[in-house]
Amino acid sequence: MKLWADFHTHTRYSHGSGTIRDNVEAAIRKGLKAIGISEHGPANIGIGADLDTFKKMKEEIEALREEYRDITILLGCEANVISLDGKLDLPEKLLDELDYVMVGFHWMVWAKTLQDGYHIFFENLVAKRLSQIKPKVREQNTRALINAIKNYRVNIITHPGLHVPIDTVALAEAAASCGTAMEINAGHGYMTEEYVKIAKSFGVKFAIGSDAHSPERVGELKKGIDIALKAGLNEEDVINAGTNWEAILWRKR
Ligand SMILES: [Zn+2]
Ligand SMILES: [Zn+2]
Repeated sequence: MKLWADFHTHTRYSHGSGTIRDNVEAAIRKGLKAIGISEHGPANIGIGADLDTFKKMKEEIEALREEYRDITILLGCEANVISLDGKLDLPEKLLDELDYVMVGFHWMVWAKTLQDGYHIFFENLVAKRLSQIKPKVREQNTRALINAIKNYRVNIITHPGLHVPIDTVALAEAAASCGTAMEINAGHGYMTEEYVKIAKSFGVKFAIGSDAHSPERVGELKKGIDIALKAGLNEEDVINAGTNWEAILWRKR
């Protein structure tokens, strides 16, 4: 399986170690045709990029596009779900200016209301120690993510099930109907082969991302490809595989 893009990379603008230019150059070295910069949304405690940073990144990328003609440089995000009703931490207006939108469920976030904070932050923290509340938390997490992909046009859900319990079956069903891809995260090894198989049975598309936090990790997608192949996916199932060049840009149409 040949991949032409890495949509999931971080830079110094959140908690990565490289610059946007470093990630672009790394992607060129890896032979990719496209690179996506996908910073954490502002609600990620201590690491999120604020709205001014997104504006700055947009300008920086526009300048880099003039310089690097052999690669497509895209500005995306890894937005956070900040309420059970599926609100994201970036305004719709800004999302519309991005080339693509990814959403990840991170529990260490500034939630929209105190009550949302209780469910998203506190209960996920408690569920790590107290397995009795896991089913309730799993249902809430899944509901929040499903609401988010219904409320917004989301290209990719990042690492479903990483660090927090998620009902992958329910999420896959919703993702298939919203046209949202589920990520196979090559950095963390999520989703598992078993879940990829289940999600595929609902007709979901997948994206394989590195979740690179340093330029050296950009385009390191092998672990994700291995999971995809073991689960029986082919290039048509993966939006950044084969010659599916325009797959990521459906949001713009
Ligand atoms: Zn993430
Ligand atoms: Zn990430």
